[in-house]
Amino acid sequence: MQQFFRVCTLLVLGLILTSLPWLQSTVAQAPPDIVSEKPLSLSQMQKENATFKTKVAAAPIYYNGPRTIKKVALTFDDGPDNTYTSQILDVLKQYKVKSTFFVVGTMAANNKYQANLKRIVIDGHIIANHSWSHKDLAKVSTTTLNAELDKTNAIVYKYTKKKMKIFRPPYGSAKGITNQVASKGFITVNWDVDPNDWKKGITAAEIIRTVKSQTKNGSIILMHSAGGSRSETVKALPQIIKYLKSKGYTIVTVDQLLNKPAYAN
Ligand SMILES: [Zn+2]
Repeated sequence: MQQFFRVCTLLVLGLILTSLPWLQSTVAQAPPDIVSEKPLSLSQMQKENATFKTKVAAAPIYYNGPRTIKKVALTFDDGPDNTYTSQILDVLKQYKVKSTFFVVGTMAANNKYQANLKRIVIDGHIIANHSWSHKDLAKVSTTTLNAELDKTNAIVYKYTKKKMKIFRPPYGSAKGITNQVASKGFITVNWDVDPNDWKKGITAAEIIRTVKSQTKNGSIILMHSAGGSRSETVKALPQIIKYLKSKGYTIVTVDQLLNKPAYAN
């Protein structure tokens, strides 16, 4: 019996050893089959090339101006209103500073706020498009995106005769929309300094501290002139202007900072 098992074991071992070269050749041949890549057809190559070109040509989002020049821009979003926009305009006038106001269409269309809408332009500031209803435009259809831009431009044109070319998406949310925005003649401008002046409980001192620590050549500073209590923004503004001037910065409008036209007319 023992003899029988010994013979069987030898037979099994022999079978394994004789099949090894075959196993090895199977393994050695496997990778070419797995990684085999068909060459791209001409139309596929053209398609890939077009995608690449589209990616390269994607319309830019501006977060700042040139870092080589000592210029910065103050920007105020979400107005106009009657409470804070007018106070901010008063401070800017007092310190002889021009800034950029990104207005919301529904606010601009409100009869109560039209005097301040016009005053932004009369005082020499730049007026820019911040959508009609302050939706997250990265989540809407192209039709809605177009309407948000067009309706705001139409109402601002009606009262100021300015055709706006500078746009800031609500929440800075611009993913996937910059090409469509650019095709309508706008440039998209976000910011690189955000002192969170919209946050509940924020103080003027905190707003000033962030501006001081983050501002550099070419910075675009985000603040708000409406959409909630902006009393701390109003309180911080004179000190922010004084600080920027003391550091040798020239405060300019966004169009001047980026050397792009603010209006189509
Ligand atoms: Zn906003």
